[in-house]
Amino acid sequence: AELARLDDRITRCRRCPRLVRWREQVAREKRAAFAEEEYWGRPVPGFGPADARILVVGLAPAAHGANRTGRIFTGDRSGDWLFAAMHRVGLANQPTSTLADDGLTLFDTRVLSAVRCAPPANRPTPQERDNCAPWLDRELAILGPSVRVILALGSFGWDAALRATSDAGWAVPRPRPRFGHAAEVVLERPVDSAGAGPAVGVVLLGCFHPSQQNTFTGRLTEPMTDAVLGRAVEIARS
Ligand code: SF4
Repeated sequence: AELARLDDRITRCRRCPRLVRWREQVAREKRAAFAEEEYWGRPVPGFGPADARILVVGLAPAAHGANRTGRIFTGDRSGDWLFAAMHRVGLANQPTSTLADDGLTLFDTRVLSAVRCAPPANRPTPQERDNCAPWLDRELAILGPSVRVILALGSFGWDAALRATSDAGWAVPRPRPRFGHAAEVVLERPVDSAGAGPAVGVVLLGCFHPSQQNTFTGRLTEPMTDAVLGRAVEIARS
């Protein structure tokens, strides 16, 4: 219930004027092309169970993907790639993700984006990134106790995950770990909020973002994606 309340607050956020204009403009212009659907045109909350052990952190909704369907990574090529891979490793009940009511269920995994509104050219400004960071802080406060693995898609997701975990008082290695595909770092989450007591190790894993720039060029292949997702499953279930 706490997570549902947070999701609801996120979907009503209007903190970034440029992104509010953009997401609404795209929705207005494209609504006719998708006449049978409701065009979302708002911030996109996370998707997946509140007690997930795997947290996947992407960049931002795609203008005609999640910004249209209202569900993260749903209705675009990146999502096709991601959910097909999640299905292959047993984290999703089906390989496709087309609309918010298509029956997709994620197992033990919650997927979200570091910035919740679609930015022009997929590029949020540093100010927009900073504006949105508190939403991830709040989400992590709710999900944190169950999370065992954070899978960052691309360096933007990696940096957002490091920032949120360090904001939450988790111990992050120094020097700050660098993003790479299959990079793996252990972060330590204090058991109690005062930071006392033994820490729980949570693994931050890097994966190239499944954007078309990476998947069309072969920089990210299906076996590479499956290997990192499979590693996430292995850690989560160990
Ligand atoms: Fe709000 Fe984040 Fe969207 Fe900015 S990007 S308007 S902070 S939800």
